Amino acid sequence: MAAFASAASADELEEARVHALGRKGTLATISKEFGKLTPEERARLGKLLNAVKQELEGEYESKKRRFEQAALADRLSREWLDVTLPAAGIRPGSLHPITRLQEEIEDLFTSLGFAVLDGPEVESEEHNFDALNIPPTHPARDMQDTFWLTNGLLLRTHTSPVQVRGMRKLGPPLRMIAPGRAFRNEEVDASHEHTFYQLEGMMVDRDVSVANLIYFMKTLLSGIFRREVTVRLRPGYFPFVEPGFELDIQCLICGGPGCAVCKFSGWVELLPCGLVHPNVLKLSGIDPEQWGGFAFGLGLTRLAMMRFEIDDIRQMQGGDLRFLKQF
Ligand SMILES: [Zn+2]
Repeated sequence: MAAFASAASADELEEARVHALGRKGTLATISKEFGKLTPEERARLGKLLNAVKQELEGEYESKKRRFEQAALADRLSREWLDVTLPAAGIRPGSLHPITRLQEEIEDLFTSLGFAVLDGPEVESEEHNFDALNIPPTHPARDMQDTFWLTNGLLLRTHTSPVQVRGMRKLGPPLRMIAPGRAFRNEEVDASHEHTFYQLEGMMVDRDVSVANLIYFMKTLLSGIFRREVTVRLRPGYFPFVEPGFELDIQCLICGGPGCAVCKFSGWVELLPCGLVHPNVLKLSGIDPEQWGGFAFGLGLTRLAMMRFEIDDIRQMQGGDLRFLKQF
């Protein structure tokens, strides 16, 4: 007991324990002498020995605990990181603003009977250009700076090749949208990115007119901006539609009189659209005498920027959590 009491360290305490309670310690040595005793003596001394042993063990354990607590306190004062503390829990993520908008538009069009189609990001020249009425010598190819791959394929410059795939696979009548990534060799700045999201839409049926186009576009834009929007069509040239239009919406910031956002015109250019060119239908095996259609291409990235008032396109794919956690 005196040795336990005077032990100044865990090592000294352990030494004292081995001496008193170990396999060759004092108590064990005494126990070996038991054979020489009478049964009565053995019972009496056995009891006594057990009591002594328990008392020694109790004293040893309490002294040992004190050393352990002192060691822990010492460690806690030295180490600022306690890896034994429970973790802070999983930080919940959130949907990217483009994903959120895309899902909303998908819901809207699905409710109007449109299918949501997907297509490859690595495309053939035929799907990306030729089948959309853009033959090799066509000047429209110069409007799109294309990433060509060494095997002759390319990174699609728009989501329009999915129209071609949809027409060929499903045939008319057809109602489809195709959201996805597109790629162009752009100089990157606050309003240009080499990778951006589009959402393509197409309807092929009998007697499709510009009136159908306007109806669907107004429904779409009212859904996105959650209010009635005024649209106007201006003639625009795109090889895969005839007639082709630029669709503008009346400025949502100033409502018409003009402001910095609409460059004081009262209108914001939003999306190209038009009636599907007969050649495009023909190239996908659809008879343009029997069927007609409209198509539109929505800049999903740009629309998300307008909807969430984001002024730099580079934020969209920068992966900065400070930006992303706002959504
Ligand atoms: Zn305005």
